[in-house]
Amino acid sequence: MIANYSIPPKTYFEIASLGYLLVLYLISFNDPNRTFRSYKLFRFLEVNMILALIVSIMTYTFAYPELGTPIFLCTILRTMDSIMCVMASRVFAVYLLTYVDTKGQFKWISLIGNVLFSSYLILMALNLPLRFILWYEADGTYMHGSLFVPIVFSTPVYYLASGILILISRMKSLGPREKAALSIASFVTLLGTVIQAATNGIILLSLPFGAIGIFVLYFSLETSDYHQLLSNNEKLRLAEQDAIKANRAKSDFLASMSHEIRTPLNAVLGMDELILLATEEKKDSDPKFAGLIKEYAENIQDAGQVLLSVINDILDLTKIESGKMELKPAPYRLHSLINDVGTMVRVKAEQKGLSYVQNTDSSIPDHLIGDELRIRQIMINLLNNAVKYTDSGRIEMDVSMKDLTDSSVCLCICVKDTGIGIKEEDLPEIFGDFQRIDEEHNHKIEGTGLGLSIVKRMLGLMGGEISVTSEYGKGSVFTALVPQQISKELRDAPASEKYKKLGEVITYHTPDCQYLVVDDNRLNLLVATRFLDGLKGHIETARSGEEALQKMRTKKYDLIFMDHMMPDLDGVRTYEMSLEDPDNLNLDSPMIMMTANALSGMREEYLNKGFADYISKPIEINELLRIVKLHLPPEKVTVL
Ligand code: ADP
Repeated sequence: MIANYSIPPKTYFEIASLGYLLVLYLISFNDPNRTFRSYKLFRFLEVNMILALIVSIMTYTFAYPELGTPIFLCTILRTMDSIMCVMASRVFAVYLLTYVDTKGQFKWISLIGNVLFSSYLILMALNLPLRFILWYEADGTYMHGSLFVPIVFSTPVYYLASGILILISRMKSLGPREKAALSIASFVTLLGTVIQAATNGIILLSLPFGAIGIFVLYFSLETSDYHQLLSNNEKLRLAEQDAIKANRAKSDFLASMSHEIRTPLNAVLGMDELILLATEEKKDSDPKFAGLIKEYAENIQDAGQVLLSVINDILDLTKIESGKMELKPAPYRLHSLINDVGTMVRVKAEQKGLSYVQNTDSSIPDHLIGDELRIRQIMINLLNNAVKYTDSGRIEMDVSMKDLTDSSVCLCICVKDTGIGIKEEDLPEIFGDFQRIDEEHNHKIEGTGLGLSIVKRMLGLMGGEISVTSEYGKGSVFTALVPQQISKELRDAPASEKYKKLGEVITYHTPDCQYLVVDDNRLNLLVATRFLDGLKGHIETARSGEEALQKMRTKKYDLIFMDHMMPDLDGVRTYEMSLEDPDNLNLDSPMIMMTANALSGMREEYLNKGFADYISKPIEINELLRIVKLHLPPEKVTVL
């Protein structure tokens, strides 16, 4: 009887597809790393497709009563064929959803699908006795009822269509590879189903095209090496998150450390500034004593500034790292800057038995515009290194210029030493972060390996550059090129001493103004009030947020200065509470954040919180005067 059966040509595509799907299944069976979320479903889809192909080939080979197959068996084969196709479309749609529906937002799709699929199965079972979907007549003719198309096609069409629609709506969230693979696989599968339905089953392409879709999915999304890549990417992503967290923790630590160090330093420098002002005032009555005290106070000032610049070094690194380093160009005097730096370095060099020579081209314009603090930092870094890495001989700083125009000049700062030198192979390394070289010789010399990296990056921001030549064992020459603007404003100003009397700095008075200064630190309050004193306004102070809130309820102030870090109620919280306080008389009084929290970006953060302005401690008198004038109504300011 078997001799009656022959494989019909229309199943050849299906047989070929079955062959290559089996090969695919076998070669991928032992794939390692089969952990990716879609993989189980993919294997299930493969198995489903293989079974559907087997059932389909069997159906089109055996389900013919005229060849001797019992009608009951023919009906069962036809039913199974339909069920396997519907199952395959269902698994395919669920597979698509695993890519686009990570949080189960499309549960309702499976819910409707489950209802449709269960109804379909029940109807197919009922069809066996009732014969209203598909059946065989007694003469062996295969028949479809009018419900055949809606019942047999509605479920797979629903699954494929909803899967594809959601895929289209979520395209943006997919990577290029996923996009291409899922779209091609869906399109090919849908095409096969449409061709098969349109030709009324004469061309059997639904399953072969589905098999091609599976191939596309396998080679693009399901190979073990791709899964490995995905899991490595995931590990990298997690590691990156950890690194970001660690970096944030470092920044937080630096922020609090900077505050802890800057607060007392602010007090020291502020008090020292007061001493300097006092010596000016005493100069006439006791010049000898005033001169001595002035000298001591200036030394404290210089050392304090160096300490401040060490803290700033650490802060700078965070700023540069986060791309938030802001240069603050302002008019300054180059020659006094060079002399300041020279005086400081000379002491250090001489302490080590080194001679220090400084040559400055006197024709360089003195009045420049640039970030004085940063240029000082660059010079000090290079000179400190020269002193650090030289045991005998001399240190030299030559400052010359090139490209002089009416409005700009390029400074060439050349720092030479007769020190240990740098090996040629180490030269490219020295500008890297935390890069220290020749550690066996240098291990006794203190250093972080940050100085040159900051110098290089800062020069980069200024549009300058740095180069180095060195002979190992003989010495090094560092040359920094710094473009600067020439200041017209300062050019004609009379030469003034660094520390003027407070009275000379002050250009306006505010006799009718009420100031409130809030700070838990007594010395900080003293410094701030001493500066404000010069403006001739009425100053009140508060040592805590609570006290400040209390005062704001009883009096209207023109300007309020608020410290950030205070025990109990900090400055930001005090500000927020003052806004909610119905008895506050100062809702529209500008509040200035006055804090040692000098991390980059803080200014924006405070302004975003609603503060009118920000001044960093240690307070610079000129900055304070600028801010006060900016925030007071012009009628309250009497220009002197
Ligand atoms: P630090 O001095 O804190 O180690 P720097 O970034 O300033 O860090 O310098 C990086 C490295 O470059 C130093 O560790 C040192 O080996 C080398 N270096 C810098 N300046 C000199 C110099 N003038 N002479 C010799 N070596 C130097």
